[in-house]
Amino acid sequence: MPSLISHAAVAVAAGAAFAPRDVSGQFWILAVLCSILPDADVFGFFFGIPYHHVFGHRGFFHSPFFGLLLSILAVSIFSRNTDVFSSRWFLYFIFFFLLAASHGILDAFTNGGLGIALLSPFDPTRYFFPWTPIEVSPIGVKAFFSKWGLAVMMSELQWIWLPSFIMVVLSTLIRGFVSRQ
Ligand SMILES: [Zn+2]
Repeated sequence: MPSLISHAAVAVAAGAAFAPRDVSGQFWILAVLCSILPDADVFGFFFGIPYHHVFGHRGFFHSPFFGLLLSILAVSIFSRNTDVFSSRWFLYFIFFFLLAASHGILDAFTNGGLGIALLSPFDPTRYFFPWTPIEVSPIGVKAFFSKWGLAVMMSELQWIWLPSFIMVVLSTLIRGFVSRQ
């Protein structure tokens, strides 16, 4: 995985870039949860679920299909006062879905561990993209404070934080331009 904080950074940047300015605190909490919850599958290790198992780390819970379920839950919690299937509901649903799906997709750009079950539950194959520039993050906090952790941080800054920052800057410029029209 890229580290949890980088997955959360993607959620914050996407919210800053695309959500309305006056969106509630609940929205931010749900957005961050959508982007980091797939990694809760690491707890499977404590219960003896092997890495390669369908419910193991980077298995079903890292798939866009699980992202779909997660985003339905998130949008149901968030838009209790909005008509289901209204255009506003759909926009938030797509936003939460893309965030939840971004987790497994970003992980598939990492250079270590097992691949990601991107097509689970329909196909258990673990996938990486052909290009894997993101240094894989160690599982566990201790290993993170090491040379490896530093390499992870540098590669995440380059491949996740920088593009996220550029996305926010571009969106801010475009919003400023549009609001002056
Ligand atoms: Zn992950």
